[in-house]
Parts: sequence; C-alpha cells; structure tokens
Amino acid sequence: MSIENTREQLISLINSALDIDGLEKIRVDIFGKNGELNKLKREIVNIPVEQKKQYGQKMNSIKTDVENSFESQKNAIEMKILNEKIAKEKIDVTLPGHYVRSGSMHPVTRVLYELCEVFKTYGFSVEDGPEIECEDYNFDKLNIPADHPARDMQDTFFMENGYVLRTHTSPVQVRTMLNSKPPIKIVSPGRVYRKDDIDATHTPIFHQIEGLYIAQGVTFADLKGILMRFLKDYYGENTQVRFQPSYFPFTEPSAEVYISCVACHGEGKSHCPVCKNTGFIEIMGCGMVHPQVLTNCGIDSENYSGFAFGMGIERIAMLKYKIKDIRYLYDNDMRFLKNFVR
Ligand SMILES: [Zn+2]
Repeated sequence: MSIENTREQLISLINSALDIDGLEKIRVDIFGKNGELNKLKREIVNIPVEQKKQYGQKMNSIKTDVENSFESQKNAIEMKILNEKIAKEKIDVTLPGHYVRSGSMHPVTRVLYELCEVFKTYGFSVEDGPEIECEDYNFDKLNIPADHPARDMQDTFFMENGYVLRTHTSPVQVRTMLNSKPPIKIVSPGRVYRKDDIDATHTPIFHQIEGLYIAQGVTFADLKGILMRFLKDYYGENTQVRFQPSYFPFTEPSAEVYISCVACHGEGKSHCPVCKNTGFIEIMGCGMVHPQVLTNCGIDSENYSGFAFGMGIERIAMLKYKIKDIRYLYDNDMRFLKNFVR
C-alpha cells in the first residue's frame, strides 16, 4: 500500500465498521503490532535518506487522522447502541402500574402501641421484662400464695428450676419496684401465657398492659381519676365508667372497671351480643397495691402507696374492631388481616 493512498483507505476501512466487534477487528488491523501503521513505520528503512524526514511527517499526520477517525467512529457506534437501547427500553407511562402490596401493623400490636401512647401523655414510662420469669416474681412477691388457684398446674406453664412462662406482666412491676425508688409511674405491655383451652375468647398466649403508680399519698381517687381520663380519652368523652368491688391478691381494695357498651352505647338493648343486654362491659381490673406487695418489693408501705391496673389487649382490640372470635387474631389469614391495612 503506497503511503499516498493509505490515509483514505484506512479511514474508509474504519468507517465501514458497523458494530463494536467489527471496529475491534479493524483496530487490531490498523494499530496492532503487525497493523498497517507499524508496516508504514517499518517501511522507512527503504526510503532514501533525503526523503525520510518528509516520509516521517506524512506518517505522523496519517496516524493522527486515522486515530481521530477511529475515535469518532467508535463514538458514533456507541451512540447508535445507546439510542437503540433507549428506544427498546422506553417506558410507556400509559400502561397500568404494578400494585405494590404494603404490610401493616397487626391489630393487637396497633392497640398496644395506642395504649402506650395514651399513658405516656399522663407521664407513664413504658417498661419491658422477660417472658420466662421466676415463680418468685410471678407469684410470691405479688402476694399470690402457694395454694392460690392461679398457681395450679392447670393454669400455668411451669418450666424447670422454679421458672414459669409469665402469667401476667405484673413481674415487670416487681422488677421495677425492686430496682428503683418511688415515685414510680410505669406501664408494662407484653405477651403472657396461660394454659387456657382455645375458644372464641381464650388463647394460651395473649397480651396485657398493666400500669403501676407509686408515690407518697396516692389514693383510690387518683386511680379513678387516671382510669376515667384514660377510658374517656380512648373510648370517647361520653363513655360511662363504673367501678365494681372485686378481689385480687395483689391489690386491696380491688375493683373491676366497666364501661358503657361500645355496641349499644350503654342502652342495654335486647339482643346486644357485646354486653349481653346489660349495657356495660368489663374492661380492666385495678386496685390499690397491697401493702404486703410493697413490702415484698422493698418499698416502705408506711410512707408510700400506689395503684395498679391491667387489661387484656386482645379484648380491647376485639371491642374496637368488632372482632367476634379471638382466634381470628392468630390465624394469620390474609383475608382477615388485610382489613387492617391503612
Ligand atoms: Zn351492648
């Protein structure tokens, strides 16, 4: 190939490349060790001395032009590939989108969070505790004697070495009293275990939230004040609240708390399945902490008094969302759970 024609020939060779692979083959043919440019370079030995300088300049100018052509052809091919890709991957914004299914909080978890939030506004802090608990904290310190029916093998999941699956969240109260000094103002939400047969209102695992307030001069009036405020905040200002004397080993005096029926609004209409026509539903238990419990937990019962209350989360959730059977909450049936997506 004469040097005069080389430039045009090489440039037209480069321009003939249609794709990256073709261009790469041409690159080797031109710029490779045995490529056209090196052939020109080797040719210099055959050039008469007086023409060598001119030949060298021409060679360099050809090299520069060929390199530039190669770059622009490479850019052109890459641009062509990119444009084809863009055309192929073009998004049709008029097509219907894919529905992204989002998860949501389980109704029990949601109610638990809501209750914690309400009590936080009254100055209660949220305390946590282990679900495997020693019998001492679950029963003895709470004034539940060894012969109490709650300690019966039928009700409690006993474990080895004096441990049980906690039957209530009260051991969190025990732990708090043992580890801190009054004033104490806590709620303890969490999972509890009892050997109940499964039916529409019972499961062996359920959730509770309990509250404890201990300070100097706390009276039953404080207990009523806080709980009435809570029940009206959570169930509405028109909710009627009724306290009925009851018995728990860890409180004295004790009471069960009723609110006007969420279904018939306290009218007790016939055929109200929620309140069984009484107009009221039991919602929680409460009372003044038994002085013996305070003493058991290292608190001077002469100087301090307090109240405690507790309620089942599932029951609150069932009343709130009108769920008739507690088993729905644990079946993990999407047809049920999707009702709570928001
Ligand atoms: Zn009712």
